[in-house]
Amino acid sequence: MTVQNKVIVITGASSGIGEASAKLLAQHGAKVVLGARRESRLQAIVQDIQAAGGQASYRVTDVTKPADVQALVDQAQSDFGGLDVIFNNAGIMPSSPISALHVDEWNAMIDINLKGVLNGVAAVMPIFTGQKHGQIITTSSVAGIKSFAGAGVYGATKFAVRNLMEVIRMESAQEGTNIRTASLYPAAINTELLHTITDQQTATGMQQFYDAVGITPDAVARVVDFAVDQPEDVNVNEFTIYPTKQA
Ligand code: NDP
Repeated sequence: MTVQNKVIVITGASSGIGEASAKLLAQHGAKVVLGARRESRLQAIVQDIQAAGGQASYRVTDVTKPADVQALVDQAQSDFGGLDVIFNNAGIMPSSPISALHVDEWNAMIDINLKGVLNGVAAVMPIFTGQKHGQIITTSSVAGIKSFAGAGVYGATKFAVRNLMEVIRMESAQEGTNIRTASLYPAAINTELLHTITDQQTATGMQQFYDAVGITPDAVARVVDFAVDQPEDVNVNEFTIYPTKQA
């Protein structure tokens, strides 16, 4: 079973990496179910996909709310008769030095980037273990495999989801449930992510860096597509995606 006809839930699908992935996967015959908070964006993307001949639906979803994520997963099953993949991609990056004590932003990152992923895992796990088939793909970051000044809490959430994906992979192999997992470690990708930075100095520095080296989210979408396209007995599970210009 390749990308064709797979039912795929995507969080953070209203822009950037999630939007690009939804469009590419749908173009290759997947049935995609988009979740995020901005309904007008989701509506427009679903219309684009359908106008291009693809199959898609959406549900307004806040990944910090377990019931929202459960409803998104339930909708995928009722709209398209099953579920093969969840792409846990929603995230924010309000980076700042720890000494600036943006504690509310720390908590928001933990709620969205870490607990949001756990909510996705909890919603699909009974389905995937029951059917002994399923794939969980999560957008970590290069900040999930190495440390960057200014990305203390962001990196902590991204290291955490990396660990989570690897442990689910190992436990699934032990339990014989055939659940595949993949972590994506993108570097500078030009999306709306930098809009979540409130620390002015950090925002300016990051914007200059992204303007100099950043690449489009299609680069990550192609990797998601590749991971989903693998045969059932193959788990390609870790991907770094750097702009060629980024050191
Ligand atoms: P965008 O800002 O374009 O996309 C972020 C997505 O997350 C949006 O669709 C947003 O939708 C959604 N989102 C944010 N909060 C919530 C929430 N509470 N519930 C549901 N959805 C939410 O940025 P990217 O595409 O770059 O980000 C996607 C992922 O990629 C993130 O996890 C990010 O950390 C990661 N990443 C990005 C990199 C980059 O350089 N761009 C590098 C490494 C990792 P809405 O606001 O409508 O809810």
